[in-house]
Amino acid sequence: MKGLTASLWPVRYKPYPDELLTSWLIRLAWGHGLKAQTFCNRVFGGRHQVWNRDSDRLAPVWLINALVEQTGTPRQIVYGTTLRAYEGILYPHFRPSGTLPWVQTLMVYHRSRRGYGVQFCPVCLAEDECPYFRRAWRVSFNTMCMRHGVMLHDRCPACGMPVVYHRMEMGRGSVFEVGSMADCHACGFSLVEAPRQEIWGYDSQALSFHLGLCRALTEPAGAGMVPDKLRVMHQLIRLMVSRYKTISLRQYVSKTLGVDDPIEIAGRVFVETQPLVARHHLIQLAAWLMVDLATRLEGAWRAGTLRYNHLEKDFDEAPDWYRSIADLFMDWRRHKRSPG
Ligand SMILES: [Zn+2]
Ligand SMILES: [Zn+2]
Repeated sequence: MKGLTASLWPVRYKPYPDELLTSWLIRLAWGHGLKAQTFCNRVFGGRHQVWNRDSDRLAPVWLINALVEQTGTPRQIVYGTTLRAYEGILYPHFRPSGTLPWVQTLMVYHRSRRGYGVQFCPVCLAEDECPYFRRAWRVSFNTMCMRHGVMLHDRCPACGMPVVYHRMEMGRGSVFEVGSMADCHACGFSLVEAPRQEIWGYDSQALSFHLGLCRALTEPAGAGMVPDKLRVMHQLIRLMVSRYKTISLRQYVSKTLGVDDPIEIAGRVFVETQPLVARHHLIQLAAWLMVDLATRLEGAWRAGTLRYNHLEKDFDEAPDWYRSIADLFMDWRRHKRSPG
C-alpha cells in the first residue's frame, strides 16, 4: 500500500476508550488491508519488533512516536494506551523485565504466549461495533466487568488457549479472511459467545472493596486508585502465596471464610501469572483482610499463621500506616517474651 511512508497514514483511526496499544495497531493494519506483521514490517522495517514481546507494557518510544505522528493522535492519548501509563498508579516504578505488580504476564516465547495475560468480557466484545481489547483487561486484580456485572475470562472457553489476538491472522490468506479480533486464534470460537458468569465473592464487604478497585480502574488516570492500598494488598498476596512453611495465612483466611482453597503452589508464584479463578480467590482473601486490616491480621497472627517479620519482608518503602500495624505484632512479641 502506498502512503505508509507519508507523514500521515491513509487510515488514521483513533483508539477506542481504554483500548490497548496493540489492539489499536491491529485495527490500523487491518484498516490498511494488511496483516499486522506485514503492516509493521512495512512501516517500522525489520529493526523494530512489535509482536515477539509485550509491546503494550514496554511502550517503545519509536512506536509511540510513529503513532503520534502518523495517526495525528495526541501523545498523551497514545501513551495512555500502554501499561506503562499505569506507573505511579498500579506500581511505583516501571521496569521492562520481570513481573510488574498487577500487570498480567504474557510469558512471550518467540511469537507465542504461554501466559493467560489478556482477559476479556464477552458482553463488552459483543456490544463493540468493532471488537477491541481493553487496557484494564491486562490488570491482575480486575477480574470483573463493572459495566456488565459479569466475571471476565482469561482464555478461550472452547479450547483453553490464551487470548492472542494478533495470531488470528496466522494461516489465513489475506487480511480480509481474518474475521474478528474476538475470535479465538487457535480454534476460531467466537469469544463473544463465552459464558456470562455472574460475579461471585465470599464476603459482601470484601467483594465491595474489590469492586471498588475495579471501578476506580475505569476512572480517568486512575483517579480513584490508592497506590498505597494496592501495594499493601500486593504484599498480603505475596505472603499468601509464599512457600515459607511458617506462613499459612491463605489457609487461615480461607478457613475463616469457610471456603476451599484452590491454589496449588509449585515453584515461585506471582499473582500476575495466576489463572483467573485463583487470582479472584486471592484478591477476595486479601480484600477481606484489607476491610479491617489491624484486627484481621491480629487474628491471623494470634492463630500462628504469620510472624511479624514476614509482614515487612521484601516490602520496600512500606506505607507508614501499614508499618505501624506490623509493628504492633513486634511489640506484642516483646511483651510476651518479657512479661511484666
Ligand atoms: Zn463488559
Ligand atoms: Zn479456542
